Amino acid sequence: MIEVKNLTKKYGKVVAVDNVSFKIQDGEIIGLLGPNGAGKSTTMNMMTGYIEPTEGTIVINGYDISKKAIKAKKEIGYMPEGVPLYTDMTVKEFVTYMAELKKVERKSRKEKVEKIIEETGLKNVENKLTKNLSRGYKQRVSMAGALVGEPKILILDEPTVGLDPKQITEIRNLIKKLGKSHTIILSSHILSEVSQICEKVIIINKGKLVAIDTPKNLENKVASKDNIYITIEDNDNKVNEVVKNIGEIEKIELIKENKDNTKEYKIISKKDVDLRKVLFKEFAKENITIFEMKKEDATLEEAFMKLIEGGN
Ligand code: ADP
Ligand code: MG
Repeated sequence: MIEVKNLTKKYGKVVAVDNVSFKIQDGEIIGLLGPNGAGKSTTMNMMTGYIEPTEGTIVINGYDISKKAIKAKKEIGYMPEGVPLYTDMTVKEFVTYMAELKKVERKSRKEKVEKIIEETGLKNVENKLTKNLSRGYKQRVSMAGALVGEPKILILDEPTVGLDPKQITEIRNLIKKLGKSHTIILSSHILSEVSQICEKVIIINKGKLVAIDTPKNLENKVASKDNIYITIEDNDNKVNEVVKNIGEIEKIELIKENKDNTKEYKIISKKDVDLRKVLFKEFAKENITIFEMKKEDATLEEAFMKLIEGGN
């Protein structure tokens, strides 16, 4: 488990991370989502022990990162923003070098390096210089570096930035695969990224945590109006009259008349109420047949924008 408590990082007058607290359970895949400059990298850099917090604590599987740094760091594999530095090494040399740095036992080093190269899909390029690889492969090399030392937690800073769609899919699949045996925290400023991979999202903006929840709950939370889309058969033309008598309804709009004599309406509610029950009952009373009824979905994109605007 990871426990981040009242974490703050100040750079002079800039508060990069502002009193952030959250917990991450073993095995979770968490997305740290926020626009550029939100404080994602700074948060991750503190979680990996790379920079010191101004205030607050970080406990990784029971080890306080500022007091038991070596033990805490052993639990973590970190993939920083951008691509690997040691570009004059081959893939295999780089991963081996990382294994030396992380003090992987000499006698199992070779075997473990090979396993990681296999796992990250780098076998066919293992003898190539990393600088000659595509952006997608470079990202894999960086991921391989993070996996050295068999950490239980992976912290991946913008793992898909700069990749083309095919590479994004490949990295995403790799992350999902690794997610089966690791706790993963990844950052992104792209919403669809996070909602596709992560079970839980932490939204930060201007250094502050604005929400932590599942993608689905976030959508529900900010759905301001529970508008209903409904398809009905209304032979006696009574729908407007019926709707008039339902107090929670603000407005009804005809969207479309179908060839099969059904009509589609959008029904806008006055406040945060789910109209489905009352619509069902009242329409049944008046012999209006409901063919389809669904709530308007707020997209995660909308949720994100709303939460961020709320923070301003
Ligand atoms: P993100 O990764 O979400 O894009 P960062 O964590 O990189 O955001 O940055 C958060 C804020 O902290 C930004 O305003 C950035 O300019 C500032 N910042 C980050 N690193 C430093 C630094 N070393 N010195 C001064 N300001 C910094
Ligand atoms: Mg960043």
